[in-house]
Amino acid sequence: MYQNKPTAFIGIDLNKKPGDYELVVELSDGQIFKADINVGARPRIEAPLGIPEKLGGNTPAGQSKLISTLALENQSLANLRTGTKAFWTEKFLPPLKKIFITDEYGYSRQTGEYSIAHKGTDYRASEGTAVMAANRGVVRVAKTYRNYGKTVVIDHGLGLMTFYMHLSKIKVNPGELARRGQIIGLSGQTGYAESPHLHFTVRINGTSIDPAKFLGLFE
Ligand SMILES: [Zn+2]
Repeated sequence: MYQNKPTAFIGIDLNKKPGDYELVVELSDGQIFKADINVGARPRIEAPLGIPEKLGGNTPAGQSKLISTLALENQSLANLRTGTKAFWTEKFLPPLKKIFITDEYGYSRQTGEYSIAHKGTDYRASEGTAVMAANRGVVRVAKTYRNYGKTVVIDHGLGLMTFYMHLSKIKVNPGELARRGQIIGLSGQTGYAESPHLHFTVRINGTSIDPAKFLGLFE
């Protein structure tokens, strides 16, 4: 329930083929709800992205190491535990006080022969900027990764999660209940980052969606 209305989010993957789809929802009382949804095409934007010297630089060895370690990190961040009820009742907020997008969701980044889809939004944030929980939820991950750097994941329940990456400092612990707007860390450039920024991801049942569009639902 959101604002006294039954509400559901369905995440559609970046690589979903554009077209018309039928959405079928079966409610717990057996009622069936159907709707037609159109999945539109996004412009495909490709941009080159180097590998920072600290991660081996833009060499073939650095590239294959990036790809193999990224796969492991993605694996460890998949299938995180989620609450069986929503932990939030109020609208979602942007994770920074001042919002300026430097790199949109959906870019393809060319690193040597590899292409990595950017499944989050990058916001401008100088080193040490306060990063806030977009909404109330339980901290599932507060950990340092080689590529994602210092990372916090908040579970808002029912498969909805937000990710905060490349932090310079983490200020929460796994299992902790974060309040909406609580400072959960400070921005930075740890891991696969060439300059300080906040990488923010919104995931619905394992599918990373466009955070800017998601936050736009609450404006
Ligand atoms: Zn990013």
